Amino acid sequence: MQLSKLLKYSRSGYFLLRNHRDNRPFFIAIEITGDCNRRCVYCSFGGNSCKSEDLDYKEWRRIISYFTQKHNASYISFVGGEPFLRKELLFQLVADTSRKAITSVITNGVLVANDDLKKLKELGLDSICFSIHYREDFNRNTLLAIEAKKLDLITLLSVVVYSQGMELYRDVLKSCIKHNLIFCFNLCQQFNNSPTASNLIKNIITPENLSEVI
Ligand code: SF4
Repeated sequence: MQLSKLLKYSRSGYFLLRNHRDNRPFFIAIEITGDCNRRCVYCSFGGNSCKSEDLDYKEWRRIISYFTQKHNASYISFVGGEPFLRKELLFQLVADTSRKAITSVITNGVLVANDDLKKLKELGLDSICFSIHYREDFNRNTLLAIEAKKLDLITLLSVVVYSQGMELYRDVLKSCIKHNLIFCFNLCQQFNNSPTASNLIKNIITPENLSEVI
């Protein structure tokens, strides 16, 4: 591991403990856009674009600086909506933040190219999570994750438990084991316009189903 990275991780570890003790923020999630190119029914962003209200670079920079400088917040995650809809802004903020804080991005992968991963790595990104919402995401996001892993990024594949069927979850898990990726299993309880959400979750998350995957 590079010395600069080692120092950054040591510093983050120190502030994780200190901020916890002092009730200060350590982890900040930056929703750089409320817009998304997907409309997943279980997501509060699905169909609720608020692109016109997105903050600009200067405003985000001021907010991030407040947390990183005043509170030594040391883990900044860039999320959306879909953060790659504002790719240039994402790159600028990662470049500004990555020297001192651990940085991560969560994306649905639709707009991500291998060159973007290289660029983010060069800018200092530490971790990337590709979320898999539908079967059609599986191959693309697995290939992107393998590429990210080759670049030495901490790489996660995440699935949201909905109605895709246990086969998809099992395939994602197998892929994570095979390629040494981190598996993330999201349990969503809120579904837009879906009063039957909790029943759906209860039906999927049964000991029998889980034992097929884990
Ligand atoms: S891809 Fe992610 S952010 Fe976009 S609608 Fe689906 S869950 Fe929400």
